[in-house]
Amino acid sequence: MISTRILGRANLGITPSRSNLGSQVGATGCGRYTSQAASSLQLACDVPSFSAHEDEEYADVDWDKLGFGLVPTDYMYVMKCAKGSAFERGGISPYGNIELSPSAGVLNYGQVIMTWKFAGSDALKMAHCWDFGWKQGLFEGLKAHRTENGSLLLFQPEQNAIRMRYGAERMCMPSPTVDQFLNAVKQTALANKRGVPPPGRGSLYIRPLLVGSGPILGLGPSPEYTFLIYASPVRNYFKARTAPLNLYVEDEFDRASRGGTGGIKTISNYAPVLKALTRAKERGFSDVLYLDSVGRRNIEEVSSCNIFMLKGNVLSTPATKGTILSGVTRRSILELSRDLGYEVEERAIPVEELLEADEVFCTGTAVVVASVGSITYQDRRCVRGVFMRNLGLLDEFSLHSYIKRWKHRVEFRTGGRMACRELYDALVGIQTGEMEDKHGWVMEID
Ligand SMILES: *Cc1c(COP(=O)(O)O)cnc(C)c1O
Repeated sequence: MISTRILGRANLGITPSRSNLGSQVGATGCGRYTSQAASSLQLACDVPSFSAHEDEEYADVDWDKLGFGLVPTDYMYVMKCAKGSAFERGGISPYGNIELSPSAGVLNYGQVIMTWKFAGSDALKMAHCWDFGWKQGLFEGLKAHRTENGSLLLFQPEQNAIRMRYGAERMCMPSPTVDQFLNAVKQTALANKRGVPPPGRGSLYIRPLLVGSGPILGLGPSPEYTFLIYASPVRNYFKARTAPLNLYVEDEFDRASRGGTGGIKTISNYAPVLKALTRAKERGFSDVLYLDSVGRRNIEEVSSCNIFMLKGNVLSTPATKGTILSGVTRRSILELSRDLGYEVEERAIPVEELLEADEVFCTGTAVVVASVGSITYQDRRCVRGVFMRNLGLLDEFSLHSYIKRWKHRVEFRTGGRMACRELYDALVGIQTGEMEDKHGWVMEID
């Protein structure tokens, strides 16, 4: 006998954080998942949550235990609009599950299984047409910091608004205006103020989403769109904030293709490379560095952050040409580097050039500025400079020939006076209100 449980309604109850990167939509059960953008994919039923004492200044969270997992806050912001019209009015509501039709655009076409096994021009053509599919989902990420005087600081939120509009245009979706976006972000941050960690102990990560929520069966733009913002207090993205990252250079899977959507923050850019990320993590690496899909020669970016290298006084980062996400942090770091007297270059960087770098680091809202300790390419290891951890002592000659033969794992300077440290301090100083904001990047709300 087959027994079928009929649910009361046809819609699925989905927590906003579960659909955020498109598609880790699970069955009911454990109410909370750690953020998928974070470095862990495991279920987290035991994450701390808020107490019901709404009148208190702070939520009942152990701020010292914060990582980058989801700690649901009190409220979320929701605004909807029909295809062909504009977003008009939204509002704050208690944080909770949302209802979606089983045929919602984002569920049906939000996650496309992509394989990149073909080569040459076919690969390009395929990539092109796959990327023009209706994967209608965009996300953003920004942080609010609490100052000593109790106000909240947002960092360049208008840049996120502009980026969402740009992405929406590419994905054939209506999007909130910059003012609507800013207003919604402010309301969400203030409504969840209890969830903003004390100064110096983290920040409130704000996650705006724009998804095709209306029902659709044939391939086409969704008839309804939902703009939603939720938030979670966070601290460090990688487990040990100061431990240098060990990156693995991916040379099987591509993250983005020419003419594709790598340059916009669409949810569909992430699921296809989860395999590469999971594989690298299983092998003990912190994250994956992706190469350009055409020649697999130039470095592009890391799963959720941009990459920089320092050689002498010159700081270089790959130029964004549609395949690299143009990070707000990346742009800020470029400006701060100029302020600090570095020469700055945006250009193509062949992966071998990393071998010559003095320093390598990653930047992004979540990771801030994270130093890279080693890079492994084509599964072989090589050391640079005097790091002899894997080798024992070598004389200068054999070190030299070792580098020549095994150009595949590079280790970088990670101590002493580091550009990465200097830039971290300058950026976080501005974001937290402890340093003067000469560029007018910070928006104070209270
Ligand atoms: C969000 C993101 C970044 C960093 O952008 P920020 O605006 O600095 O947070 C970099 N790469 C990818 C793929 C991203 O999704």
